[in-house]
Amino acid sequence: MLARSHQVLGFTCGMLAVPLCQSFNIVPAHFFSSIIFMGTVLIGSLFPDIDSPTTKLGRKFWLLAIMLFAAIITIATEFPKLWDIIDEHVSGIGSMLLPMLLVFLGHRKFTHSLPFLGLLVIYGSILHTVYSIPMFYLVGFLIGNVAHFLGDFPTTKGIPLLYPFSKKYFRAPLVFDVGSPIEHIITLLLVGFNIVYISLYII
Ligand SMILES: [Zn+2]
Repeated sequence: MLARSHQVLGFTCGMLAVPLCQSFNIVPAHFFSSIIFMGTVLIGSLFPDIDSPTTKLGRKFWLLAIMLFAAIITIATEFPKLWDIIDEHVSGIGSMLLPMLLVFLGHRKFTHSLPFLGLLVIYGSILHTVYSIPMFYLVGFLIGNVAHFLGDFPTTKGIPLLYPFSKKYFRAPLVFDVGSPIEHIITLLLVGFNIVYISLYII
């Protein structure tokens, strides 16, 4: 799927997950928490495709990463007082971003597999314990990643669900080509569904 379609599908999955997660007390019942949760779902819904630095998304990601790194170095060297305040948060977020090194493993490979999801769960649990990062950030991020898989599963290429144990690509019985008119129709239908759902249950 294209990045835009992944975001729309991620939005749908996150929106449907909010009431479920609230009923299990995973997401606090505050409007602000739901917004942060949706943000983490949307980031997660694009995350598996950062393994392709040649795509529009991959390029944007790397540009942003370099700018952030430059900003951190500037603050650490020029504004020590500010650095004291944000030091701990930067270390926490920096650790969260470490799995992005997986980008060197080739497009639609490891970041589109179940072992990758398993690693995210383990890594997320460690971050939750060490840096006290709220659990719902991690749950939202995971839901976003699963939504991404759901978007790539019914495409012609499919996804290597068992990579690196098997190089077989799995796909749905009915598939569409990435960027094809069918994908655009599906995305439009999802947008329509999101609007109806929000107007019926949220506003
Ligand atoms: Zn993908």
